[in-house]
Amino acid sequence: MSESPLTSQGKLWEVALNVPLPDTFTYEASEDLKVQPGDPVKVPFGPKNRKVQGLVIGPTEAKESSKDFKTKTIAEKDPEKIPLSKMQIKWLQWISDYYVYPLGQVQQSVFPPLKKKSNRKSRKKDIVPDVEPITAPDLTDEQKSVLSEIDVKSSETYLLHGVTGSGKTEVYIEVIEQVIASGKKAMVLVPEISLTPQLVRRFAERFQDQIAVLHSHLTDREKTDQWWQIVEGDKKLLIGARSALFCPVPNLGVIVVDEEHETSFKQEEKLKYNARDVAIVRAKMEKCPIILGSATPSLESWQNAKEGKFKLLTLKNRVSNRPLPEVTIVNPREDRDEHNELPYWLSETLFKKLKNTFENSQQTALFLNRRGIAPNVQCYDCGFSYECPNCDISLTLHGKHHLVCHYCNYHERKSDECPDCKEGEPKAYGLGTEAVEKGILELFPEARVFRADRDEIQSREALEEMVRKMENSEIDFLIGTQMIAKGLDFKNLTLVGIIHADVAFNIPDFRASERGYQLCTQVSGRAGRHAVPGEVVIQTYKKEHPSLQAVKNHNYYQFVEEEAENRKLFHYPPFGKITSIRVSGLREQEVIEESQALANYLKQLIEKYDQLGGVQVLGPTPSPLTKIKNRFRYHLLIKAKDHQTINHIAKMADQFIRDQCKKTKCLIDVDPYTLL
Ligand code: ADP
Ligand code: ZN
Repeated sequence: MSESPLTSQGKLWEVALNVPLPDTFTYEASEDLKVQPGDPVKVPFGPKNRKVQGLVIGPTEAKESSKDFKTKTIAEKDPEKIPLSKMQIKWLQWISDYYVYPLGQVQQSVFPPLKKKSNRKSRKKDIVPDVEPITAPDLTDEQKSVLSEIDVKSSETYLLHGVTGSGKTEVYIEVIEQVIASGKKAMVLVPEISLTPQLVRRFAERFQDQIAVLHSHLTDREKTDQWWQIVEGDKKLLIGARSALFCPVPNLGVIVVDEEHETSFKQEEKLKYNARDVAIVRAKMEKCPIILGSATPSLESWQNAKEGKFKLLTLKNRVSNRPLPEVTIVNPREDRDEHNELPYWLSETLFKKLKNTFENSQQTALFLNRRGIAPNVQCYDCGFSYECPNCDISLTLHGKHHLVCHYCNYHERKSDECPDCKEGEPKAYGLGTEAVEKGILELFPEARVFRADRDEIQSREALEEMVRKMENSEIDFLIGTQMIAKGLDFKNLTLVGIIHADVAFNIPDFRASERGYQLCTQVSGRAGRHAVPGEVVIQTYKKEHPSLQAVKNHNYYQFVEEEAENRKLFHYPPFGKITSIRVSGLREQEVIEESQALANYLKQLIEKYDQLGGVQVLGPTPSPLTKIKNRFRYHLLIKAKDHQTINHIAKMADQFIRDQCKKTKCLIDVDPYTLL
């Protein structure tokens, strides 16, 4: 690059700064500071010249507008970080562009939270457990055939669709072995919730001390150590949750995204990226293959496979001819026997199977996606209901008197007398895991019951304890939320009960059916994974729901075909793109005004450029949860056929928001996963 006309000393460099501004900045480098693209640096910023962390993007020339300013000089290279490659910069630029998020804040995610420690005494606090190595099992014919289709030298995206217990993990392991044998490193991304000690142990049995692990339950020190061990050390396999994707693992030979359909791959705060999608782009740039695995692939991935963009691989059967569990669907309102005094939420069918399983010393998991005793406490006389003063939601009862808001943690005591009419007594409505636990203990007083939800399990240790107790058959009934839905594999777990399947299907979202189907299939998949065949009872008030029928028949195709038709009809993804903009603020009037102004601007914009055909701007409308933590929430939705169009509009929206929406917080969410 030519010398800048403005300076004779050094070159000018484009630097992405860790500040919430969309542009990059121009800095000068002094003669003796040899900077290169990809160098992490510290630079003076703002009127007070505070030091800000940044990344050198590349050489640049003086901009016309910057002539009035004196260009500042890069203070130093950041010795705590490693330089990034051109490819990595390109990847970060892609992310910044796609999600309309400042590059300088994207690059931040790449680096570990703390400084590198030189005297790293490996305080081996079983992040990766010490286990006896085991050898690979003989692969099934299906596994062999899938493996023969995976080319580790390609940069193909593979969608591995395999029923629960079909041996997908074994396929990943075989591929990773090939990759490591060729001198490269591998990355496995799993949902935070399934990154259990059990899962790590399984990889450790095959890769021993070659593994590094990154997830949110580690301390900053542990994260930093793990990061350096895979980036500069001799670790070969990184297993991590969503954010591990940003780790600049050198010489990457494969990425695996397990449970690719999981919503937890979508980050909902700050940079609202989807780790699966960003991983696909990374693999393309790294020129390595990527494997997306799931028993219930997302509609997006399914469509991509159908269009030939992904290569579809299928495992139709569980290993060793173990059958898939038999699924019974019952309505607890109809399925009753007057002689048995069962709680209203428990069907006769499920009760009999619980009894049977318990008497045979097998284990049961009962799933309900709601914590507490009851989600609602109301006075029958006057209709008063306990609501959170900060959020647009009713308080959940825990224990006898404890009322809690699940969004902001506000709590108060339930009184025996209605605070409003002073006559009636507020009563609990609906159902939570705590109530199910109580009910089961009343029916089976001698049973060992364990509740696994966010109230009970708040640490990794608690989760490990649960796993250990299940493995040692010290639990008869495991009652839990999402926490027990995925990944777990217990020899004695033969019965799964889904207490109230409708909870998952009733969310106000176009993905409700997909979520419900996935959740029920995943939960069902916990049953009978070993010698004894499993059984599943799904309780619902809507037995005919097509997605539930598909769960019963273990028929993904039945589900996906019907669901695809619905999506096509409304141009929802994968048959169209959406971006949402959430506007929130403390004063509802301001939220309405600014979201309206933004919508008007965007509507004008798409009228003016009529080449942007097929674009719609919808809203603003109040969000389904209109108030959270005292902030009013409205949202608008942009729908278009392709990403390019939506990206263009989102960038214009971003500019408008920065210039005009000063009283509210406006967040752009590209490919949103929730409209709540
Ligand atoms: P998925 O990831 O598809 O749910 P897993 O890989 O967890 O399935 O496999 C299910 C169970 O079968 C595990 O206990 C695993 O150890 C076992 N398994 C996998 N492949 C084989 C095989 N080829 N032979 C014997 N057991 C296997
Ligand atoms: Zn609240």
